[in-house]
Amino acid sequence: MKFSGASGLSRIALNPECAWQTVMLRSSKSEPEFYEQVTGEVFPKEYGERLSARRRGSKFERNAFDHQAAKLRAVMAERLGVAAEDIWVRNLEDDEPGGHESNRIRRSNLTRAILSDRLEGKRTPEILIQPQLTLTVHGLARSERLFIAPDVLYLDSGSGRYRPADLKSFVVRDNQVAPGDLERSRLQLAIQSLALHEVLSVLADTRPQEHIGALVFATPYGLAPHAPQEESLDAPVHLVRRAIAAIGHHHALIEGLKSKDGVKRESLLLQELPNHYQDRCVSACALAGECKKRQQNRAAVLGDAAVEVLGPNMDVGRAAQLLAGATPRDQREREIAALLQELAQPFETLRRAA
Ligand code: SF4
Repeated sequence: MKFSGASGLSRIALNPECAWQTVMLRSSKSEPEFYEQVTGEVFPKEYGERLSARRRGSKFERNAFDHQAAKLRAVMAERLGVAAEDIWVRNLEDDEPGGHESNRIRRSNLTRAILSDRLEGKRTPEILIQPQLTLTVHGLARSERLFIAPDVLYLDSGSGRYRPADLKSFVVRDNQVAPGDLERSRLQLAIQSLALHEVLSVLADTRPQEHIGALVFATPYGLAPHAPQEESLDAPVHLVRRAIAAIGHHHALIEGLKSKDGVKRESLLLQELPNHYQDRCVSACALAGECKKRQQNRAAVLGDAAVEVLGPNMDVGRAAQLLAGATPRDQREREIAALLQELAQPFETLRRAA
C-alpha cells in the first residue's frame, strides 16, 4: 500500500509536527519501501492492511453495492427521503473502471458533470458510487492535487446536498466503534468533505460549506451494512486543514535544505527535519522502531504521559535521579522534582502501609 491520498493526509493530521511523514508522502512509495530506503534493510514484519482485512473490505463492498446497491438502498432510504426501490443509483466504476490515473481523471470529470447538473437543479442520482474528487495540497512533490475517492456520495433529503459516505468493514454492534478506528474514519471523511467542497467551489457553488458525512459500518450478520451513522465533521476538518498547512511548511523546509545541501533524494535529509515520536506511532507508522531509537533516553521512550510531565527533552536517567533525591540544577529541574515527588506520593503511602 502506498502512503498516499486520504490515508497519508489523515496520518499527517494526527501528527503534523513530524516532517518525516511529509517526506514519505512526497516519495510516492509504500511504507515498507520507504523504510528500506531510509534504513537500508527490508521491513521486518507484515505491515499495513492485512490480506484478510482487504478481503473483508471487498466482500463488504460487494454486499453493499451488488444488485443496484439493494442493501445500501435499504439502509439509506430514510436519510435520502426516497423509497428504497425508487432510489437512483449510479456506479461510476461501471462507466469508467480501473485504477490508473487516466481512469481517475475520467471518473473525476463524470463526478463534476453530475455535481454541476445538481447545481442546475436537474435530477441526479441519490446514490453515487465510486465518485472521484480532488483536493489541492501545496507542497506535494509531483502534483498539488490529491485524488480523493469516497465510496459514495449521497443526496441528503433535508439539505438537498451531496454528502460523502465511507463504508467501513469493521464489524460493529449498534454502531459502537473503537475510538481509534472512529478517529481515523472521521478524518478520512473530513478529507472527502473538503474535496467535495473544493470541487463545488470550482463549479461556483456559493452556499456556505457544511461538513457532514456518514460512516456505514458492517453488522455482525453476514457483513451487511448498518444504517449510516452521520457525523458532524467540523473538528476533523480543522485537523485536516492544519495538516495541509503543515505539509506546506515542511515543503518549504525540505526545499530549503535541498538547495543548501545540493541533495536530491529527500530521504537523505531526514536527520535534519523535525520528527515527533509519540505513542500512536507504534501502531500507525512503519518507522516507529527507528524513531523510538532516536529518542535514546528522552522522555518519549516512556510514552506521551511522561513527555507531558517531563517535557520532550528530559533525560529519563536524570528524572530517576531527581525522584531519588538528587539536588536540582536549575528551576526547571526543581519543578520536575516537585512534580515527581507528588506523583510518587500515593505509591510511597501504599509501600509504607504494606
Ligand atoms: S514513527 Fe517517526 S516518522 Fe512515523 S510518524 Fe512517528 S515520528 Fe513520524
